[in-house]
Amino acid sequence: MNVLKIYLNYWNKLPIRIRGTVIIAIPVTCLFTTLFAFAWLKLSLIEDEEWVQHTQIVRLETKHLLNALIDAETGVRGYGLTFREEFLTPYNQAISIIPESLERLEYLVTDNPEQTLLLQEIQSITQENLEIFDQKITLQSEVNKLRDSDEVWVPADALYEWLEESKATMDEARLLINRFAETEENLLEERQVHQQLYRQITWNILCISAGIGVLGFFLSIHLFYQLERELATRELNLQASNQRLQVVCEQLQRFTANASHELRTPLAAVLSNAQVGLMDIAELEELQEDEIDYFPLRNRFQKIVQMTKKMSDLVGQLLFLARHEGGLNSESLNPVDLAPFLQQLVTDFLPEAQAKSLELTYHCTQTSISVKADISLLPQAVINLLSNACRYTPAGGKIDVFVSTAQNWAIIEVKDTGVGIPPDALSHIFERFYRVDKKGYETTTGFGLGLAIAQQIVQIHGGKLEVSSTLNQGSIFTIRLPLMG
Ligand code: ADP
Repeated sequence: MNVLKIYLNYWNKLPIRIRGTVIIAIPVTCLFTTLFAFAWLKLSLIEDEEWVQHTQIVRLETKHLLNALIDAETGVRGYGLTFREEFLTPYNQAISIIPESLERLEYLVTDNPEQTLLLQEIQSITQENLEIFDQKITLQSEVNKLRDSDEVWVPADALYEWLEESKATMDEARLLINRFAETEENLLEERQVHQQLYRQITWNILCISAGIGVLGFFLSIHLFYQLERELATRELNLQASNQRLQVVCEQLQRFTANASHELRTPLAAVLSNAQVGLMDIAELEELQEDEIDYFPLRNRFQKIVQMTKKMSDLVGQLLFLARHEGGLNSESLNPVDLAPFLQQLVTDFLPEAQAKSLELTYHCTQTSISVKADISLLPQAVINLLSNACRYTPAGGKIDVFVSTAQNWAIIEVKDTGVGIPPDALSHIFERFYRVDKKGYETTTGFGLGLAIAQQIVQIHGGKLEVSSTLNQGSIFTIRLPLMG
């Protein structure tokens, strides 16, 4: 009982893939074993059957030979006693049959050395008998001729004696032929027993295989049923943990949104106070009533303003991400013609690019490219890509914006000749707070949220944001948006 429990435990711990394979393997193995055993036994039975038939042919041929020999002897005897020619007919038939029969037997027993030897003896003794018969007939016909001419008289006793002369040879031939036939008889019996045994084995194997097959079939059904139940339980567990995760995610999202929202007010207060402080310092410096050096104080206030602005930026971005998780409702989606819309956006961005000595060019061959978009969100995605291109491209570089269509997609490409992104970082750059360490660039200005925001905006529009980049040569960011049908 314990052993069974251990096995069941072990079985339940096996991966579903392995259990499934075993379940299918059971009936399949049974089927193949049965087929194999059946084929093997069938072959063996066919071989036995052939042997039995062969032995029976040998037996028949032996009988045929013996009968022919007896017919020849009877014919000679009859002729010897009566001198009548009609007795020679069976003799003549027999002497033509005997060599053919011997030849056939020789061919039939070639695979049996013992029988071949015995047959050789039979052949020589038969030959001897035939010679004796021949001599007798020749002699007898001579005697007959003399008797007809009354020249000679043969006494009856002498005639009987003469007739008995070949008896010993004939008996020996008969004995040998009988021995030969007996051996074949034994062989036949042996083969019949063998055949019977194999037939029995075939039935037993068939019955056992059928039993195992039926058992395997029911076992497979049972195991499949068990697997199905287990899978259903797993699915339920998975659904429950998915729901739990969804709840946790929503809570986290709500928390981020609330925390960001709550942080905005104190940050605004800190910023405005610091800015007022700066203005006060400027006034005091202008009055120059005391000898105090306000520089360090102004410096501190400036730092507070700078850091608070940065914090506000971060809080603003986090709030944005938290608020736009999920999707957009259909009311906020309106038809937008990307061609003029993006041209305006690029034109507005020109001063920023020029300030960094970058060449910014807009390329669009189509006059109108219509998509459905939230006009308050979509520009942010493109602006984030453009400002990254500006930040990560050295002065004198080029930024190109291509707008086109392919199949059912509107395609916006932002291409720069900047520092590029290392291959191992490419798969992470859309993660929140991920930043590639780039010495010498404005790494302090970002939080690693720009691309995450751009991706989120594109995704809630039903599109995709992709990147390809070569280190020290530049990057291409591609936005795909579904065209209006
Ligand atoms: P960040 O505010 O740091 O720019 P982003 O999410 O916008 O955050 O970008 C993540 C990282 O991807 C950046 O730190 C930068 O290393 C890399 N990156 C983004 N755009 C480019 C670009 N055009 N060329 C080179 N690197 C870029």
